[in-house]
Amino acid sequence: MKYARIIIDISAEQIDRAFTYRIPEELKEKIAPGTRVQVPFGASGRKRKGIVIGLTDTADFDEDKIKEIAGLLPKGLDAESELIELAAFLANEYGCTMNQALMTVLPIKTEVRRNSRRRDAVEQISGPLTEPEKLELNADQLRVCNEVMKDPGRTSLLYGITGSGKTRVYMELIRRCQAEGKKSIVLIPEISLTYQIVTELTKYFGQKIAVMHSKLSRGEKYDQYKKALSGEIDVCVGPRSALFTPFKDLGLIIIDEEHERTYQSETSPRYDVREAAIFRAKQTGAKLLMGSATPSLESYKKALNGTYDLHVLKTRAHPGAKLPKIHVADMRRELELGNRSIFSAELKELIDDRLGKHEQIMLFLNRRGYAGFVSCRSCGRVIKCPHCDVSLTAHNTWYVDPRTGQKQAALLSCHYCGYTTSMPASCPDCGSRFIAPFGTGTQKLEQACRNTFPGARILRMDADTTSAKHSYENILSAFKAHKADILIGTQMIVKGHDFENVTLVGIVAADLSLNTSDYNASERTYQLITQAAGRSGRGELSGDVVIQSYDPSHYAISCAAERDYEAFYEREMSYRRLLNYPPETFMMFVRLKSEDEEAVNAAADLAVSLLQKYESCGTEIIGPCSENIYKINDNYRKIIYIKNCSHDIIMRMRTELSDAVNESFSQKKVYTVFDVR
Ligand code: ADP
Ligand code: ZN
Ligand code: ZN
Repeated sequence: MKYARIIIDISAEQIDRAFTYRIPEELKEKIAPGTRVQVPFGASGRKRKGIVIGLTDTADFDEDKIKEIAGLLPKGLDAESELIELAAFLANEYGCTMNQALMTVLPIKTEVRRNSRRRDAVEQISGPLTEPEKLELNADQLRVCNEVMKDPGRTSLLYGITGSGKTRVYMELIRRCQAEGKKSIVLIPEISLTYQIVTELTKYFGQKIAVMHSKLSRGEKYDQYKKALSGEIDVCVGPRSALFTPFKDLGLIIIDEEHERTYQSETSPRYDVREAAIFRAKQTGAKLLMGSATPSLESYKKALNGTYDLHVLKTRAHPGAKLPKIHVADMRRELELGNRSIFSAELKELIDDRLGKHEQIMLFLNRRGYAGFVSCRSCGRVIKCPHCDVSLTAHNTWYVDPRTGQKQAALLSCHYCGYTTSMPASCPDCGSRFIAPFGTGTQKLEQACRNTFPGARILRMDADTTSAKHSYENILSAFKAHKADILIGTQMIVKGHDFENVTLVGIVAADLSLNTSDYNASERTYQLITQAAGRSGRGELSGDVVIQSYDPSHYAISCAAERDYEAFYEREMSYRRLLNYPPETFMMFVRLKSEDEEAVNAAADLAVSLLQKYESCGTEIIGPCSENIYKINDNYRKIIYIKNCSHDIIMRMRTELSDAVNESFSQKKVYTVFDVR
C-alpha cells in the first residue's frame, strides 16, 4: 500500500479526523493499523505523534502535497498505547474499522463541568466511606486464592456454586495485587449488578474504586478515565467497557458471571469481552480469572481440556448456610387437579408460610408486561405490530370497562420497536368484543399476587420499572431493607444479589426460555433456574425453591433441580456433538437485513453461492432462512448458518462475504452482521 491514514495525537476528539501520509519504501513492511509513527504536521512541519488506522492505495487529495511519514515511534509501554494495540486486535478479530475500534476503547474527551448536585457514583450507592472491614476467608476460599495466583500466565475458571463466596475471593485477589502496587479490573454483566458488588468492594477499597456504567455521562466517564491514567484509583468495576480502563500496572482482570450474554457486544465491533480480556491479560502480564456458578459450556470445556485452570468452590460460605430445598411443581398436574391460577398449590402454601414468618420472597418470571399477547376468542386473530412480525404485549395501564365494570389492560406495546397503541375494543377482523390478553407477564403476576396475598408488600423490577437513573438501586435497597415482602422480576433479579432474609424463590414459568429455537436454549434455562434458585437461603435461615414447569422431566430442569452441573454438562455436550453445534465446532451467524425485501433476499442468495466453494473443506451451510422474526422495525431479516471446525476458514469466509455484499448491495442498504461462536 502507498498511503497510511493517520490520526494525530490521540486526544480523543480527533479520532474522527484522519490524515493521509505517504509510506516511505523502507517502512512498507513495518506499518500496520495500530503502529505509532512520527509525522510532520501543519504549516510549520513540526513533528507530531500519530497512529496508523488504515492503509490505502488511493490518495484523497493532490498527491504532490501528501507528506511522508518521518519514522516509527518505539512501541510504547504506556497504558494508552496498550489500548491502541487492543483496538487493532478488535479491528482484526471482529472485522471492524480501526476507527470503530478506537472509538470503543477510548472515551470521547469532553469538558468536565463540575455539577454540585451530582455526587460521585460510588458515594451515591454506598454512602460515605467508613472504616475498612477486615476480610475474612474460609479455608476453601483461601485455597482458591493461592491456587489462582500460582500461575499468573494462565487463564483461570472459578466454578463456585451460588453463595460460595466468590466475591470475597475476588476481593482478596484484588487486595494482594494492591499490596504489590498493581491495579485490577472487575467486569460484571450489567448495571443491575453494580449495586451489590460495588457496595461490597467499597467497604474494603473505599475511594480507590471507580465505577463505570452506561448511565454515566460522557464527562463522568472521561473523569474516571483520567483518574485511572493518573493512578489515583486501584480498581475499576463495570460492564464490558471497563476492560478498557487505562491502568499502567494491570495485575488482575476478573470476569464475574462469565456465562452471561451481555459480555458479547451487540454493536460493531461485536467483540466477546472474554476473548478481548485474554488478549489484554497476555499483553500486560495480568492474571485473568473468570467466575461463575453456571460456567458456559465453552469455558468449562476449556477448563476440562487444560486450556484454562479450573478451581472449584462447592459449599456455601456463610457459616450455617445450607443449600435450599428444591421442589418441582408439575403444572400439568395442577391443571388436572383444577388449579388454573399462576401459583401451584405448593408455591402458594410456601408464600403464605413466609409472609406469616416475616421472611422475604422472590418471584422470577422472564417476561415483562401484563400478558404475552392479545387475541380474539371468536376468530383467533392475534394483534401484531405493524412494523415487526411479533405480537404486541399487553401492559396494564388499567381502566374500568364501563359496560362490564371489569378492569382491562389498555396499552399494547411492541418489545422490538417500541410501537404502542391502545387495546382495541373489538376485533379488527370479525368485530367480536371477546378479545383478551393471554399468557403471563410480570405485571399480571404482580396483579395475581395482590389478589391472592392481600396485605403483602410487593415490589416489581423489570425494564418497565427501571428506566430512571437510580431505579435499580432504589428497588434493591428498599427490598434489602425489608420494605417489601415480595420482589417480582425478570432475569434482572436472578443474578448476584445477596438478600439474607430471602427464604423462598419461585420460578414461575421455568419453561419460557426452553421453548426458543436457539441451540443453547437448554443451557440458558439451566443457568436461569440455577441462578434464580441461588437467591434463596443465603443467610442463616434455611430456604426453599419452587420450580414451576410443564415439562419437569427435561434435563435442563431436572439437572438444575438436582444441582448437578456435571450431569447437565454431559447431557448438553452430547447433544451439541450429535448436531455439531458450538463448542464442538465454530459457527458463524450471518445476519442480513434491509428495508428492501428483494435486495436482502438477493444478497443472501449471493452469499450462499459464494460460500459453495468452501464446502469441500468441511463447511456446512444452512440457509438462507428467514430469521425467527422476519421483520423488525420495517427491516426484512435473513440468516445463514455456517459451521466449520477451523476458525481461520470461518474468518476467511467472513472477509469474503462482507466485501462482496458491501460491493454489490451497499446502495440498496443491505446491512450484514457476523457473529462467530
Ligand atoms: P457468590 O458470589 O459465590 O454467590 P457471595 O460472594 O455473594 O457468593 O457470598 C455469599 C454470602 O456468604 C455473602 O453473604 C457473604 O457475605 C458470605 N460470605 C462469603 N465468604 C464468607 C466467609 N469467609 N465467612 C462468612 N461469610 C462469608
Ligand atoms: Zn376476531
Ligand atoms: Zn414493532
